[in-house]
Amino acid sequence: MSQTPRLTAAEYGLEADRRYAALEAFRGALGHDAVITGDATREFADPYSPTEWEYLVPPAVLQPATVEEVQAVVRIANEFEVPLWTNSQGRNNGYGGSAPRLPGSFVVNLRRMNRILEVNDELGYVVVEPGVSYNELYEHLRAIGSTLWADVPDLGWGSVVGNALEHGTGYTRFGDHASTICGLEVVLASGEVMRTGLGAMEGNLAWHLVRHGYGPSLEGLFTQSNFGIVTRAGYWCMRQPETYMPCWAILDSNDTVEAFFDALRPLMIDGLVENLGSMFNAAGAIGATGQWTRDEVYTGEGAIPQRLAEEFAKRELGLGAWNMRFAIYGPDAVVQAKFAAVKEALEAVPGVMVAGTPYPGDDLPVDTFDQGQKVMAGIPDMSMLAATKFRRGREGGHLTFSSLVPLTGRDAAQIRDLVRERVEGIGLDYTSTFLIFPRHLVHVAVIVFDLDPDEAARAYDACRNLVSELGELGYSEYRAHVDYMDLVTSLFGYNNHALRRFTETIKDAVDPKGILSPGKQGIWPARIREAALSPWAATSAE
Ligand code: ADP
Repeated sequence: MSQTPRLTAAEYGLEADRRYAALEAFRGALGHDAVITGDATREFADPYSPTEWEYLVPPAVLQPATVEEVQAVVRIANEFEVPLWTNSQGRNNGYGGSAPRLPGSFVVNLRRMNRILEVNDELGYVVVEPGVSYNELYEHLRAIGSTLWADVPDLGWGSVVGNALEHGTGYTRFGDHASTICGLEVVLASGEVMRTGLGAMEGNLAWHLVRHGYGPSLEGLFTQSNFGIVTRAGYWCMRQPETYMPCWAILDSNDTVEAFFDALRPLMIDGLVENLGSMFNAAGAIGATGQWTRDEVYTGEGAIPQRLAEEFAKRELGLGAWNMRFAIYGPDAVVQAKFAAVKEALEAVPGVMVAGTPYPGDDLPVDTFDQGQKVMAGIPDMSMLAATKFRRGREGGHLTFSSLVPLTGRDAAQIRDLVRERVEGIGLDYTSTFLIFPRHLVHVAVIVFDLDPDEAARAYDACRNLVSELGELGYSEYRAHVDYMDLVTSLFGYNNHALRRFTETIKDAVDPKGILSPGKQGIWPARIREAALSPWAATSAE
């Protein structure tokens, strides 16, 4: 079976007795209940890798409940020189879940740090600890009568902080989560607590309001990196609008995609469509509902033929070959005017139909809403979890392969056709979504597979090959599974990897013992750097 080359715990110099001594010290600091070992750690493995892939199961999971306990964990890790792998809810599914990049790392899971520290209706933000899930935040805002709409991704069980630190997305006007967090508190590898931006000034009143602070602006350093453990963050929210208008743009055929994106681009740059829209292909839309399994669509060999998926989506869902959901928010007159302008511009493309329904922001008929109508209004939902059952009617797995491309029809068509060919080439279905930002797209191929080792291995292999193939065309991933994280980093090689050498210099300075998430984003501690990076040397030399 093919898996990414990786260091073992022994190669890391992590002898069993040192790990055991550290475990005892963690128990002493946190209490036995906050240290999970044995079979229960499986919940913190990659839920979608076959059970035979033991390396993705952590040896123990530590659940500190306070900043002081996080500091204690970090100090013990330094003392015993054992690696930690931090997450918040730890549901980074499709990218490895909670599984550490370096086998043998202790997972630090922050679900118990789930306090909502502030809700500020006046200025439109909340302040949360890292374990706060979207579900919890939504329930809290409604319970206290707040009118804020906090942005949510597709599944409400993830954490506000974890998703943002991994550059995740949601679907309101604040869908770009890494730009929506503002003002961090971080436990450094030394065990010290630091506050970024204006938070470094005692008593500053605008900590969670000004993203750039008083320079240098460091917040980006703590996203998709391994320089600290974030223990608190501000999160900007939408104010409840007078009118909320969820819309669909329905494309009758695959051939309409290019012209559609070229017509959409000026609307995105001008801000006429303000939220983060997403466009599903027919098979993706069918799978995402969780209502059907693929053999109700197609029982033949290989991938579902595009024509059959399109016919099914049209008949059962009234959808087209591709379908973009987006929303308009604001005073009613503004919403109506924007909708008219968007409809006119998009329907000028032959084969496109745009429809939308306005709702009063303070009286949403939530019970009648579908998943898209909910998440674009900041209402969390869990129905998409059923999508992995689409393939065989039972719990399967998925890899989320997410590539960044310019918002042009040409690039959209190129990545769509290439990824489709590779995924269908291994007998799996092409179910995909474009996430639509003002100037770029994220092409998200959700590659659903059965949890049998051969089918999973084919999916993992295909993703690894695609990373390199797309790299040659000038496209990169925006987020990567732990399995091919280093491979993605190896493509960022400008000037003999100047970027990676810079992040390594920071790593060595702020985390000299290399205890924080070794290997995250291809950043390895000095003592194992050469060994860890050697599998990628061939790519680097090119
Ligand atoms: P989710 O909450 O959506 O389940 P995770 O908790 O799995 O997301 O976090 C996703 C990734 O973000 C982690 O793998 C880790 O790299 C990073 N991360 C999450 N929480 C923290 C944190 N508190 N401090 C530093 N990095 C974090």
